[in-house]
Amino acid sequence: MRIVPFGAAREVTGSCHLLLAGSRRVLLDCGMFQGKEEARNHAPFGFDPKEVDAVLLTHAHLDHVGRLPKLFREGYRGPVYATRATALLMEIVLEDALKVMDEPFFSPEDVEEALGHLRPLEYGEWLRLGALSLAFGQAGHLPGSAFVVAQGEGRTLVYSGDLGNREKDVLPDPSPPPLADLVLAEGTYGDRPHRPYRETVQEFLEILGRTLSQGGKVLIPTFAVERAQEILYVLYTHGHRLPRAPIYLDSPMAGRVLSLYPRLVRYFSEEVQAYFLQGKNPFRPAGLEVVEHAEASKALNREPGPMVVLAGSGMLTGGRILHHLKHGLSDPRNALVFVGYQPRGGLGAEIIARPPAVRILGEEVPLRASVHTLGGFSGHAGQDELLDWLQGEPRVVLVHGEEEKLLALGKLLALRGQEVSLARFGEGVPV
Ligand SMILES: [Zn+2]
Repeated sequence: MRIVPFGAAREVTGSCHLLLAGSRRVLLDCGMFQGKEEARNHAPFGFDPKEVDAVLLTHAHLDHVGRLPKLFREGYRGPVYATRATALLMEIVLEDALKVMDEPFFSPEDVEEALGHLRPLEYGEWLRLGALSLAFGQAGHLPGSAFVVAQGEGRTLVYSGDLGNREKDVLPDPSPPPLADLVLAEGTYGDRPHRPYRETVQEFLEILGRTLSQGGKVLIPTFAVERAQEILYVLYTHGHRLPRAPIYLDSPMAGRVLSLYPRLVRYFSEEVQAYFLQGKNPFRPAGLEVVEHAEASKALNREPGPMVVLAGSGMLTGGRILHHLKHGLSDPRNALVFVGYQPRGGLGAEIIARPPAVRILGEEVPLRASVHTLGGFSGHAGQDELLDWLQGEPRVVLVHGEEEKLLALGKLLALRGQEVSLARFGEGVPV
């Protein structure tokens, strides 16, 4: 067996790895390149899509599924295996991608074709492809997220996909992987552990309490899949400790995901499942309103606080959050709370550095609102969790991380006596 990375090699996006076992070719994830790497979505895959026998998808994030329609556009017609939750979330994610892409590299027909080839594969079910057997394990990163175990020719490969942050409440913890001959592992936060989750929630509640009681707006840029709903869960479970205020989920996409959640109950933690079993939906706190239309979103800019606004995009690359920031950042009663990753060089990173003013949608806005960064809401395993998960594995190849973060993690693995290397695009590694 051999595994060949065709994306997420010393970078965080474009996850796509080809597993070769005898005459079989299985693609593990087919993700989009994002940010400054976007142009690479137009480049060839590096292999012939027509020669792939099956695709397995670890989870519904765009950087793991976003090139699937392109795979069909270029002639792939085989099955695509995913958990039911991944399949349902992916439909929302791909349809949204079609709307927001500047230079589309696939069409609505390609998306339809791809969705038509989805086949359910749940945790622990073995898929047999000739002499190759494949199964999903719980990754705890999104509803339905998985790592992949592949066995064949007497060898075992584990591909981590993205591993979740086990301190968080909404999803199950990642399951430990089996002992493997090779683990292809993510290292997004390979350089540091996260701040404890309880402290993060505590700080979040303090910011909310302070801001709402002085009549301010709490502006939260959020990702539509998982993070927005997780924040709603925190507001549901701790709402009794907060001043009463309307909560606006100003993202139709996040609203669609929210509507889907009651159908995904078995993919959540036992804590979340217990609420649903009692007939409660813990993702709908009191005072929640989903804002569908752009006009209603703009009207919120003119309304006085107190209020909580969750809007996309999470990395401030566009979307409704920009209007809220343009109108809200000059008011010292307001708070801007980052609950997700802000890339270097982006507007978020600029605001976090606290200049006297920032330019938003062509306008110079004085920065008087308070600004908070809560890294503990990260959806990825921190360094300590990655080290635990990889405990005892003899050989590790690192993917899905900036080079210096992978090097930091690699150093610690090597100190424990584990053989470790960083993946290179297109360079096969024997299992
Ligand atoms: Zn992910």
